[in-house]
Amino acid sequence: ATPISITTAAGRGAQAGVLIKDAEALERMASVDTLIVDKTGTLTMGKPKLTDTVALGDVTETDLLSLAAALERGSEHPLAEAIVEGAEAQGALRQEATDFEAVTGKGVRGQVGGRTVALGNAAMMREMGLVTGAAEANADILRVDGKTAMFIAVNGALAGIVAVADPIKDSTAQAIRELHAQGLRVIMATGDNERTARAVADKLGIDEIRAGVLPEAKKDLIDQLRREGHKIAMAGDGVNDAPALAAAEVGIAMGTGADVAMESAGITLLGGDLMGIVRARRLARATLRNIK
Ligand code: ADP
Ligand code: MG
Repeated sequence: ATPISITTAAGRGAQAGVLIKDAEALERMASVDTLIVDKTGTLTMGKPKLTDTVALGDVTETDLLSLAAALERGSEHPLAEAIVEGAEAQGALRQEATDFEAVTGKGVRGQVGGRTVALGNAAMMREMGLVTGAAEANADILRVDGKTAMFIAVNGALAGIVAVADPIKDSTAQAIRELHAQGLRVIMATGDNERTARAVADKLGIDEIRAGVLPEAKKDLIDQLRREGHKIAMAGDGVNDAPALAAAEVGIAMGTGADVAMESAGITLLGGDLMGIVRARRLARATLRNIK
């Protein structure tokens, strides 16, 4: 390919929905050797749907959904919307939560109809002093399908599991193949469970994953890889991903996500298509050849 100027590169990028902040972002993109991608909303649509509700005790399935939805109405997480919509579609009683609290990377909790309710991952349950133990087997059956399983505790006892599935974006598999072909090491970093992450990674040919990582741990992973001499691009969509985006050589925001993610990004992909990273990389290389 012929070398091109930075202005030309920026223009071509913009036409393809790849917004490049400045010359530095483009230059750094050419030297990146590792891409870290968030799962939810980056590899997947970020539009999960409720798939399963499992009662583990006396609380019925619709009751569980009613309690879960009451909490999730207070959350902005993509998982929350799936649960609220699923509960409404199944006609679960609408209730209000009080004392609502969101725990980043773990889940939500509060009071619903005189009961203390918590909803989230195993770490969330541990924080409540509960052991997921036997329920993990039920959750694993859902996770091997790539579903995200969340536990519900009611009045200090494990009461059930709700699961959601988030479809992989149509273009993700091709984008991962091309990024590999460009010589990039691709690592999926997700707050989700190891088994769920593995199921999604396997479908995409991603062989490196870091599962169960809290948002600040994504930043730590980047800092560590940079100390080892790697040049990192980080792609993410959430408010939670902003610190990691800022820590990378190049932060790549999914234009569908939070504004705060875009503010800390050198590159923004309008429409959130990962093929934009493949394009950005090609443009970066073509520009670099022109400078040299
Ligand atoms: P990701 O890295 O996939 O974007 P997050 O760090 O946002 O994931 O969340 C990690 C995990 O914490 C989720 O997979 C889920 O189990 C739990 N979690 C986080 N927020 C919520 C919520 N609002 N409701 C239920 N579970 C949640
Ligand atoms: Mg996310």
